Amino acid sequence: MADERFGTVVIGGGIVGTALAYYLAEEGEADTLLVERTQLASGSTGGSFGGVRQQFSTPLEIELSRRGLEFWKTAGRVFDSPVPFYQDGYLFLSGRPEIMTGLGEAAELQRSMGLTDVHMVDAERLPEIAPWLETRGLLGGCHTPGDGRVTPPDGVAALARAARRLGVQFREGWEAVSVERAGGGWRVGGPGVVEAERVVVCTGYWSSAFMRRFGLDLTIRPMPLYSAITEPALQGQQVPLTIDLDTGFVVEREGQSLVIGILLEENPPGYGHEQMLVEFAELARERAPMLSDVRVMRQIVANVDLGGDGHPYVGEVEPGLWMAAGFGGHGTMHGPVVARLLAGTMAGHPDPSVDLSPLNPRRSPSASGEWMVAAKKA
Ligand SMILES: Cc1cc2nc3c(=O)[nH]c(=O)nc-3n(C[C@H](O)[C@H](O)[C@H](O)COP(=O)(O)OP(=O)(O)OC[C@H]3O[C@@H](n4cnc5c(N)ncnc54)[C@H](O)[C@@H]3O)c2cc1C
Repeated sequence: MADERFGTVVIGGGIVGTALAYYLAEEGEADTLLVERTQLASGSTGGSFGGVRQQFSTPLEIELSRRGLEFWKTAGRVFDSPVPFYQDGYLFLSGRPEIMTGLGEAAELQRSMGLTDVHMVDAERLPEIAPWLETRGLLGGCHTPGDGRVTPPDGVAALARAARRLGVQFREGWEAVSVERAGGGWRVGGPGVVEAERVVVCTGYWSSAFMRRFGLDLTIRPMPLYSAITEPALQGQQVPLTIDLDTGFVVEREGQSLVIGILLEENPPGYGHEQMLVEFAELARERAPMLSDVRVMRQIVANVDLGGDGHPYVGEVEPGLWMAAGFGGHGTMHGPVVARLLAGTMAGHPDPSVDLSPLNPRRSPSASGEWMVAAKKA
């Protein structure tokens, strides 16, 4: 017997689940309960760098980014809540001709989709954008000054508050351990038992294990990303979110300090902060000498939701059972947008301008067409 009954139960309170709960309510589906095993924004969302960029290479990803930028740039005003957007810009670098060609083609595609503030930059002109860069060995990069960074839990807090105002209920410390059919709907078991007409699984990198019971063989997995916050550094200097695509070297502004790290496709065995910081110092001697001796104030590790074919799994798995997860390190920017599109689809008002069918959870795994994943290949 169920303790309670809802129209929809959303499982997982990261940026995706929280946005979905809000947008469902906005669609008039406010009879919704969101359950979260620990606290809202405690998964990948809480550890995210919060980079929001238009620089992608496929029409779908660029469209999601266009809308994602709009979401984050306007969220403070739309939700009347503190959600600062720091417009530091985004800068991809490379010393490899084939990558420069790819960046140029992607920039052209972005322009053709209306995102015209994208600039290919020769190595000699890079110091105008990031004066602290050493350009030896670089051919140049691609700069998008309108991109920036956010603190994703700000967005979760704003969305949750707005959803609550519309009648959505939230339960933290509530881990869903079972989901089974019950009559025409679903029964979700955890610290209690709730029934719903529909269930939406938004469990981030937990989703592979969670969805196995429905015959889905997903490969979303947690990949620890080791980073650090430095002492105050490069003060008074422009610091776009800068990624060297050849090495994974990344620098991002964080208040007066910086977030530093190496973006790897796969961590070598035994990898951790010690190795990352040694590698960062070596790369900094070449790429940003001012940072080769920068002091670290705090070490951070958080799990990225990697895996799959680089695209999220979004859609209906069985009648009344939906999912949205596996954003492959892009969920801060794409999560709220996909949640909004999915909510429209679930409410019977799909947005005809974006086709979500390529993200079907039961699709055959295929190589991702999106190559701009900002990580050094293993
Ligand atoms: C270090 C780092 C840097 C990143 N940088 C960027 C970036 O610059 N730009 C960008 O766009 N993205 C970035 N990402 C990726 C982005 O943060 C994720 O793609 C996004 O947060 C995924 O959101 P989510 O809601 O799907 O998952 P999560 O935030 O992981 O949320 C899933 C939630 O489900 C809950 N849950 C799991 N199982 C259950 C259960 N059985 N019952 C109840 N609750 C459950 C979890 O506790 C969790 O809170 C980064 C991630 C990391 C870790």
